[in-house]
Amino acid sequence: MRSEFLPFSKPTIDDDEINEVVASLKSGWITTGPKVKRFEEAFKAYVGASYAVPLSSATAGLHLTLIALKLDEGDEIITTPMTFASTVSMIVLCGAKPVLVDIEPGTLNIDAAKIREKITPRTKAIIPVHFAGQSCDMDPIFALAKEFGLTVIEDAAHAAGTEYKGKRIGSLDSISIFSFHPNKNITTGEGGMVCTADETLAEEISLLKFHGMSREAWKRFAASGTPNYDILLPGYKYNMMDIQAAIGIHQLPKLDGFIEKRREIAEFYKAAFADVHELATPALAPYDQRHAWHLYTPLVRVEKLTIDRDTFMAELKNLNIGTGLHYKAIHHHAWYRENMPVPAGSLPNADYASDRILSLPLFPAMTMDDARDVVAAVKDVIARNRK
Ligand SMILES: *Cc1c(COP(=O)(O)O)cnc(C)c1O
Repeated sequence: MRSEFLPFSKPTIDDDEINEVVASLKSGWITTGPKVKRFEEAFKAYVGASYAVPLSSATAGLHLTLIALKLDEGDEIITTPMTFASTVSMIVLCGAKPVLVDIEPGTLNIDAAKIREKITPRTKAIIPVHFAGQSCDMDPIFALAKEFGLTVIEDAAHAAGTEYKGKRIGSLDSISIFSFHPNKNITTGEGGMVCTADETLAEEISLLKFHGMSREAWKRFAASGTPNYDILLPGYKYNMMDIQAAIGIHQLPKLDGFIEKRREIAEFYKAAFADVHELATPALAPYDQRHAWHLYTPLVRVEKLTIDRDTFMAELKNLNIGTGLHYKAIHHHAWYRENMPVPAGSLPNADYASDRILSLPLFPAMTMDDARDVVAAVKDVIARNRK
């Protein structure tokens, strides 16, 4: 057994990031400023977006994007139950009704073929989530959006570096929202980015993110700015700081290398678990795409074991292997069970995955020895708990 605990995720922070943060702190300019602008430009160029708006989190990006849609009470937004709570919670907080569509059993992405039957005259938008960094099948989603006049908002929190049919997520004809939380493929500590080709939307989100002040208002304390400012509308406080962007500036050039390391470990896991029938390893989508391998999420076939998934995770922890849970399906959470119950059995693939899924350690600084420890521990837990 390992002597040291292996977490399921850990950001890779080098001297580049540390020195840049220290330089920001020493410069006297800590909050939104030139480094946020640099990170915005670099990220925009990397994903191939026309406009990018840096924010304090992806949750802030979801919130402001939904506010910009000017939803009315009772408007409906289609999304997946297999996501982080904030995707669905932002819909609720904007006064709209989340409508959950079941997932595909293999990729765990929203099942595009099941969206049409959930569209009503009140449907305003579809929010697909690129689960674990694997692109959803966007062509049928865009076709439905066009047919019914819906907005497509990609929850791209897992998808920095993901590609769909040769195009980076962030460059499609939609709105995509990225996260730089420490567990994500690149980090700024906390942070997010909204990417779009829609100039009006980018402008509106820029205004809403910082008190409704005109776009370049952060310059008002700089030599080039003027201390005066105007409030164009009541806004929020969702800006990214320079000390966050200082980290991001040095993370972004490493992203492709990070993904490559993640892919190697994912392939090692897939081969190592090929003959382990108690585990269903993640399926690859049949269309052309580049998986960013944000997470490695096998399903534990609990019916072949004497223990449930939570005990499986506890046993791994006893062997010093950390795991994550992405995700308990949103309709299984207390508030949603209580306030927005879905008919029992109406989301069977999400129910199935929700009770069996776990995230194994996957991060760029992991060694192959770490990965071998994970495989050995998983096999050990299975061997001791087989039916
Ligand atoms: C992490 C995550 C979010 C929220 O991102 P934050 O930057 O933490 O607000 C939203 N959706 C998904 C799918 C996520 O994984």
